[in-house]
Amino acid sequence: MGGDRKCRIVLLGMPGAGKGTQGALLEKHFGIPNVSTGDMLRESLSEGTKLGLAAKSHMDAGKLVPDDVIVKMVDEFIHKSECSKGFILDGFPRTLGQAKALDEMFETRGFKLTLVLYFDLGQEDAVIRLSGRRVCKVCQRMYHVAFNPSPNKDRCVCQGELYVRNDDKEEIVRHRLSVYITQTKPLVAYYKEKGLLVEIDASKDIGSVNDEVLGVLYANC
Ligand code: AMP
Repeated sequence: MGGDRKCRIVLLGMPGAGKGTQGALLEKHFGIPNVSTGDMLRESLSEGTKLGLAAKSHMDAGKLVPDDVIVKMVDEFIHKSECSKGFILDGFPRTLGQAKALDEMFETRGFKLTLVLYFDLGQEDAVIRLSGRRVCKVCQRMYHVAFNPSPNKDRCVCQGELYVRNDDKEEIVRHRLSVYITQTKPLVAYYKEKGLLVEIDASKDIGSVNDEVLGVLYANC
């Protein structure tokens, strides 16, 4: 990213569209943190915190965690020193209420949202991707049994054990997608109206999507 300008990016798209994968690649490429609300909640859960335990039932059912909980969590995180050079928001905002809260957070701090990358993917493609997804218990790296298998079979490159997330089971996946359509998809129009939305064809392979994303970011950041 050119000069001293800070890049603050939102990754938007249905579960399975590749936000987590691209967010991790961007984090490595630009050296700015990828703030995944899903990862933060799973981490809180594995640490047994009050926040994690309160979120568990929502997450297991494929429902959204209440806005006030998520907004507080993000607000605290983006003001940490590690976010001082910019950040990537993966999985936030997910409701109109969260998007408006983010606008307020930015306004209060004098931050500017650089752009919103919208990863566009068909619903059936998302089901195939999510139900074949495997995640490392140790480093959270993601694989897909067919499209992006681990070179170590059922172990991660870090040797951590791979597992299927509870909410990646097909019935829950279908519920998550319907939640996405009713609650999150309206954000596409919200950010389009603000002139911040850039559409990415998320059906391509990881490398091609990453090339497209990098092209967009170098042109805008
Ligand atoms: P993800 O890893 O982004 O698919 O998120 C997994 C689960 O965490 C979601 O299905 C929700 O239950 C919860 N979650 C993550 N981000 C949010 C958010 N911004 N708002 C509400 N719930 C969230």
